[in-house]
Amino acid sequence: MSSRDERRANAKELNAALEEAAGMRPCDGCTECCTIIGVRSLNKLPGQRCKFVGESGCKTYPNRPQECRQFYCFWRFGYMDDEDRPDKSGIVLNPRQMNDVSFLMVSESRPGAVEKYADKLEDLAAAQGVSIVFGNIAEQTVTRVFGPTSAFFELCMANPHLVGLHIAQRNERGLSWFVAKEARPGTLKYFNDRLRDDAETLGSVVLTGTFNSTEPVDIYGPPDAVAALASLIAERQGIGKPRAIGKA
Ligand code: SF4
Ligand code: SF4
Repeated sequence: MSSRDERRANAKELNAALEEAAGMRPCDGCTECCTIIGVRSLNKLPGQRCKFVGESGCKTYPNRPQECRQFYCFWRFGYMDDEDRPDKSGIVLNPRQMNDVSFLMVSESRPGAVEKYADKLEDLAAAQGVSIVFGNIAEQTVTRVFGPTSAFFELCMANPHLVGLHIAQRNERGLSWFVAKEARPGTLKYFNDRLRDDAETLGSVVLTGTFNSTEPVDIYGPPDAVAALASLIAERQGIGKPRAIGKA
């Protein structure tokens, strides 16, 4: 072994010992994140297998780029089951924070893996009280968000361009409701069903569209709350026309 290879092996060993002491699971042959992440300095796009992936992991580990050092794999920190290791499950979870809201990004290395894990992801999101976001942020194609209503609304309110949905709370004449609007064209088609369910959970109403426009709007929520908001809209003759009332 050359002295360079020896230094690499020593650095890996030391790092593995430190991680074990910190309670982190070993990667043990998994290299999924090395395909999933994008590494600008290597001209590596997300989804491309890195040229430095070797039989026992990264061949340039001590000198790996900053993006690799800053990637945190949720499974390694002890979440999910041992058998859900990313190379076996086909999903990689990565904690993020944006505008003071924490969430998890989930990426799949095998098509359909996220759908297969949907129930488990829903349970994990509920247990952690966060949203789990599936999609490609760089390509602005978030298509699904797992997790509790409160976390989903908080995420959209603080980061409308992440999910592509702008949610704001409104209060008027003793009524309280949320307005959901597209922050990117076409996003509502992914979230309309979810917003209907969320509106029921909230006991409030969610209005999709623009309250103060002549465009038709959809109102979701428990019947009483929907009826109260619909009559408020009706009072504003010609301003907003309720199209769908209540849960279909
Ligand atoms: S996805 Fe997680 S377990 Fe797999 S190589 Fe990356 S850090 Fe290790
Ligand atoms: S440089 Fe190493 S750690 Fe980074 S993506 Fe490539 S193989 Fe993985």
